[in-house]
Amino acid sequence: MTQASSPEARLFVFLGAAVALSGVWGCASSPTTDEVMRRRSAATAQVPPRTGEIRTIVIDAGHGGKDPGTSHFGLKEKALVLDMARRLRTLLEGTGLTVVMTRETDVFIPLSGRAAVANRLNADLFVSIHVNANPHRSISGIEVYYPRQSTTVSSHHWPPGMTVSEIGTPSTTVNQVLWDLVLRKSRVRSRRLASSMCNAMRNGLGAPCRGIKPARFVVLREARMPAVLVEVGYVTNRDEATRLASPDYRQAAARAMTEGILSYINQVNAQHI
Ligand SMILES: [Zn+2]
Repeated sequence: MTQASSPEARLFVFLGAAVALSGVWGCASSPTTDEVMRRRSAATAQVPPRTGEIRTIVIDAGHGGKDPGTSHFGLKEKALVLDMARRLRTLLEGTGLTVVMTRETDVFIPLSGRAAVANRLNADLFVSIHVNANPHRSISGIEVYYPRQSTTVSSHHWPPGMTVSEIGTPSTTVNQVLWDLVLRKSRVRSRRLASSMCNAMRNGLGAPCRGIKPARFVVLREARMPAVLVEVGYVTNRDEATRLASPDYRQAAARAMTEGILSYINQVNAQHI
């Protein structure tokens, strides 16, 4: 067993033990994921990995199955994002990257199971795809989210009326503080990936990118690697819904996401960020 010498390495060992005991990431093994892991092992055996190289990307099509996501103008989020995820996979695989999907069909996957797929594979990037909705139907455009550092609030600072279950247990809070330390570098990279994707989608789609934003979404905060969540437009906006309904536009969106990811990879390779 390798000696864990750095503080970050020791934290990983501690967290690994804590997680194993608590079962927080106790996602059941699926044949699909195991098959992917076997394929990845085989690929790794053929081509020795190089330090810092980005090889494996997990694409997460949001929602699925009993969870349709948002629905407007006859469009269902779960179907739109799965279609774009498949297109993105094809384009990324064409560049030689290994791509794993959290879902390939219309199935329900719990939120915590999504990042767990990427963590189990030790993937290099995690990209979750969604479409947005807003009661103000004039709002349109793309948004890209990256993991926000958690804020720890002691119990005497809790808002009145809040319960332990709503805030999180003390042990969860301790774990979150440790995760924040471990994942600091990953968050910096997530922000760069978000920025790269925002720019590429603005250029590729001619649609406004409303910005990159930090968020505490479950799928982002549990990923151990750089992770972003892309909201590819608002289906509550009639014009944007019309564009999203077009396969050509979804292909363009996938192409723009690919450009954003490749641009980020080039930055990482050039600057070792
Ligand atoms: Zn969504």
